[in-house]
Amino acid sequence: TAHAPEPTVRTTCAYCGVGCGVLATPDGQGGAAIAGDPDHPANFGRLCSKGSALGETLGLEDRLLHPMLDGRRASWEEALGAVAGGLRRTIERHGPDSVAFYLSGQLLTEDYYVANKLAKGFIGTPHVDTNSRLCMSSAVAAHRRAFGSDTVPGCYEDLDEADLIVLVGSNTAWCHPILYRRMTDARTKRGTRLVVIDPRRTQTAEEADLFLPLAPGSDSALFSGLLVHLADTGTLDAGFIERSTSGLDAALDRARSIAPNLAAVAALTGLDEARIAEFYAMFADTERVVTAFSQGANQSAQGTDKGNAIINCHLATGRIGTPGAGPLSLTGQPNAMGGREVGGLANMLAAHMHFTPEEVDRVRRFWKAPNIITGEGMKAVALFEAIETGRIKALWVIGTNPLVSMPRAERIRAAIETLDLYVVSEVVADSDTAAARGKRTVLLPALGWGEKDGTVTNTERRISRQRGFLTAPGEARADWAILSDVARRLGHGEAFPYTSAAAIFREHAALSAFENEGTRDFDIGGLADIGDRAYDVSAPVQWPVTRKGGTVSTRKRLFADGRFFTFDGRARFVAVQRPALAEPATPQRPLVLNTGRVRDHWHTMTRTGRSQRLAAHRSVPFLEIHPDDAAAAGLTDGGIARLSSAHGEAELEVAVTDAALPGNPFMPMHWSDATASRAFVGALAQGANDPVSGQPELKATPAAVTPV
Ligand code: SF4
Repeated sequence: TAHAPEPTVRTTCAYCGVGCGVLATPDGQGGAAIAGDPDHPANFGRLCSKGSALGETLGLEDRLLHPMLDGRRASWEEALGAVAGGLRRTIERHGPDSVAFYLSGQLLTEDYYVANKLAKGFIGTPHVDTNSRLCMSSAVAAHRRAFGSDTVPGCYEDLDEADLIVLVGSNTAWCHPILYRRMTDARTKRGTRLVVIDPRRTQTAEEADLFLPLAPGSDSALFSGLLVHLADTGTLDAGFIERSTSGLDAALDRARSIAPNLAAVAALTGLDEARIAEFYAMFADTERVVTAFSQGANQSAQGTDKGNAIINCHLATGRIGTPGAGPLSLTGQPNAMGGREVGGLANMLAAHMHFTPEEVDRVRRFWKAPNIITGEGMKAVALFEAIETGRIKALWVIGTNPLVSMPRAERIRAAIETLDLYVVSEVVADSDTAAARGKRTVLLPALGWGEKDGTVTNTERRISRQRGFLTAPGEARADWAILSDVARRLGHGEAFPYTSAAAIFREHAALSAFENEGTRDFDIGGLADIGDRAYDVSAPVQWPVTRKGGTVSTRKRLFADGRFFTFDGRARFVAVQRPALAEPATPQRPLVLNTGRVRDHWHTMTRTGRSQRLAAHRSVPFLEIHPDDAAAAGLTDGGIARLSSAHGEAELEVAVTDAALPGNPFMPMHWSDATASRAFVGALAQGANDPVSGQPELKATPAAVTPV
């Protein structure tokens, strides 16, 4: 039977932090035709391969459609009772901080807000962290050290207006393809030059004007050398430094001690001196320069320092907050930024507030919270270790797959078996994480993309609506509604009266400006009284959205006035550490393993794995390895390699290529037990953390390889 097409709905893509606008036209049979939204300022109608295949991922085959209790189907009543009862018992026996939540950059802001409020204000546990810890928490920490706030200074238009774009640890052509298209457009239109800094010769590197294949972990040396070069060539912006910054002398002294000259930079990075000099001259001579950095910089035991080494060079030249200039953290997930806004990271409270007595009290009064926390909780790696040691007794995972993505995933699987209560809110029934079992296990079916409704914030601080256009399948429910029901069962119903995403958004917006209107970085107080209808039809908007005297205003760029969110209004230079790998190669494990994404898959493939078209790009997990390393290990192209680290093993198809640096093979992060046997990154990764951000090292794991 032919069905008349239903009205087209404006929403946003489920995947990366570019946050593209999508037009979805449901076909009335559970599917939808997908097109780019020509009016969305992130993509102007374009979509990449992943976004345009979204319609192929809507099937219900492997969906979790009913609550499950200890492996059997249960009613919502029974499942929610088990969650609330389990939480209550755990709190009574072991205290509120024996409860932990692990959230996701895939959640909508409204879901994130309610989870964070329930945990940090009402249950009273600080142990709420998110998979964003694995994504951009080093960039967050670098922002906070430099700017006094977690603020992305610029916007996508800066990429259109830059004369030089420097990409650090980012295969943008594959991982943020629509932003990459903007970069290539700028190259065509205004001759923008592109520098790529990455150990691996990626698709992006292939197309760069200058490619710097630096040794793993040596980014800070390259940017320390750049700071020295800027100082020595008279390229510093003395006026900006004097008016708007502090700490240059200490940062420059440290940079000189690390990278006093080209020879020292070359020795630390493995790069050719002439190429380093070429990069330094390009940077020094170009006013409009954007340095965009991503997981290659962040997923490192020194990720925060890498971010600050980059930001130092922008502060030194005053190239920040002005058109075509600034550091730009490219976030991985669709709502990594929204999670930061609500306080989804263990070291934040809510609305970018921290743990000063004044801010704790402000949030407490706003929420009327009986059990407000007063300090930071455990970050992801420590949080999962605390399950092993028995400190955490109840864990609620929402919308993420840590049994694939976390370092030392095998140990986490074993630890989960010891939990008194293990709750998983999920879309798919058979993810590795949904398949694990605690002593009491509750699976809660959540709405997925195309069904749920709320907002997300993209890399350039732009809040967009994500709208549902499909009927809720089975018994699936919105995460915020599930969380609110549990809150009611715990006796906190008055504080969780929500009946719509719009109501939650208004509360979130009001908190951001509570008693502090117009003075904070994350301030969306101008949206605090948005009506249901206005919320429903709202167009994408960049924060801050402030209200002063009845006038609502927003800002494309921050820091254009040279004022930052530190107590004295000055940005901080940071003296960074000398680069060193947390775990260097050894004679037994002579390789340093790099990991990352492929073009057509997303995270652990629970969605992209459903599209045959996407799976066709790379259908099996592989190991890219330099010909010299392959020869030394007796590997042949197309054969199977067994890769081992101190923590685990993987079996991968061999791809011999000089795109990999000698000694630095690469494997993709997407595959898992659920999708292939023994090929997941989490089994191999070491679990060393950046001491500032807590972000795990996922780009440099000592490994050995043998043929199978
Ligand atoms: Fe989706 Fe990112 Fe592709 Fe845009 S660039 S369509 S947000 S995956």
